[in-house]
Amino acid sequence: MNTNLDLFPEDIRPHIIPSPKGDMYYKCLGCGAEYGIEELLYVCPACNQVLLIHDRNKDRLKAIPGETWQRIFDYRKMLKIPALKGIYRYHEFIGPSIPLESIIYLGEGHTPMIEANTVLQEKTGLKFYYKNDGQNPSASFKDRGMASALSSIKYLIDQGLVSKVISVCASTGDTSASAALYASYLGSQVKSAVLLPHKKVTSAQLAQPLGSGARVFEIPGVFDDCMKVVEHLSSSYPVALLNSKNAWRILGQESYSYEIAQDFDWDMDKKVVMVPIGNAGNISAVMNGFLKFYNIGIINKLPKIIGVQSEHADPVYKYYLEPDESKREFTPVQTQPSVAQAAMIGNPVSMPRVIQIAREYDAASGHKNVFVVQVKEQQIMDWQLTANQNGHITCTQGGECLAGMVQAKALNIVDENETVILDATAHAIKFSGFQDLYFKGELSDAYGISSDSQFINLPDFVSPDDPELIPSQEKPLGSSQFQEFVKDVSKKIAIRLGL
Ligand SMILES: *Cc1c(COP(=O)(O)O)cnc(C)c1O
Ligand SMILES: [Zn+2]
Repeated sequence: MNTNLDLFPEDIRPHIIPSPKGDMYYKCLGCGAEYGIEELLYVCPACNQVLLIHDRNKDRLKAIPGETWQRIFDYRKMLKIPALKGIYRYHEFIGPSIPLESIIYLGEGHTPMIEANTVLQEKTGLKFYYKNDGQNPSASFKDRGMASALSSIKYLIDQGLVSKVISVCASTGDTSASAALYASYLGSQVKSAVLLPHKKVTSAQLAQPLGSGARVFEIPGVFDDCMKVVEHLSSSYPVALLNSKNAWRILGQESYSYEIAQDFDWDMDKKVVMVPIGNAGNISAVMNGFLKFYNIGIINKLPKIIGVQSEHADPVYKYYLEPDESKREFTPVQTQPSVAQAAMIGNPVSMPRVIQIAREYDAASGHKNVFVVQVKEQQIMDWQLTANQNGHITCTQGGECLAGMVQAKALNIVDENETVILDATAHAIKFSGFQDLYFKGELSDAYGISSDSQFINLPDFVSPDDPELIPSQEKPLGSSQFQEFVKDVSKKIAIRLGL
């Protein structure tokens, strides 16, 4: 695709189209060992800890002033190059070693931020936005990380370093949907296999990987059990792991923070970013993204970060309950059923990342700036329904975010001078099964939720009283009868609507 660079201001012209100038490497969070990105690697071969990816050449980014970076990203919005239309608008911060030819773009990123209406702002006493990550291609934020992970695999394939990759992941649903979608785009180069907990994902979540042509395996147990099998597979066989152990996914998910910064015109003063926590990859990425922009001077304030967990899956919340850092000890929890099913994780893979990055984040902020709150299942459902009945399309995890915001306000962690950005991590329709059960009063007792009549919404059946006026496939109505039918049903609807 031709790009007429003459249209861009001269001083930023050399930077508009990025070239791979980074020197990326894996670094172990346990022993600090470093490894090249030319191999498929998920945990440290020496100590088995998770990894993060860094850029040895990152100081070159400091040579460009923060305000110039802002203009580069603003002008990049005008580009028509597919590789730079998604998360790789921020190429230097996401995949600085990846050439544009290896980048996969399926429409991810740049999801809209929707300001809550006055009803919701008055009800909560806070100004807030939902960032609709359910508007990504597979309808969850996981596409951000998957675009990055699959681009890195394509890069290795293009370099002739690997071939015929088999990718595997365990999933509460959205990871597998996303992994299967992105892998299927690479055709025969990548075959994807996904492991799901049997009967623990919604039918829509099962349909997605099946529809993308992935091999789907259902395993008895919960997500944490599937994860153990995937870990065993990845350490025993030559497969590409696409769970959030994969450090490339963290890089891709950092785009969420970059977009928030850009959408607020780089002003992060008095901003609060709330995310639900499951495996804790997303909150790690969100903190890391803001830190990177802050360190280069693209933003001059770090927003407050608040993680949210359900009381039915709250190991990260419990960890931070201990105020004395030296006494904190991480203990996995046994999860209870949660409508925020995508976050129902008792032993988060990215816990070491959270601990390290949150410490850096607080230090860079000069004060405590990362918080975790806990909410009840009832609040998750009630706030999700309230949000969606006011113009949003949020999933249960997004409901958890709003419930968390209300909780954070009650605890004085946020106040009315701040603006909150909530993560609607998936689209409402992916989790409509829970809405259905709530409306019918059929959620099992294990959730601890009772259906509040003010939210219940069920279809109203309207039919003529006279059986002769009811149309059926076998016995079509005559034209005068049909007119009677139309009149009768219209009248009944008009009465019920109070017309
Ligand atoms: C994966 C997921 C989460 C949890 O994110 P983590 O990175 O695992 O903490 C929350 N909501 C949705 C919709 C998800 O798919
Ligand atoms: Zn190590």
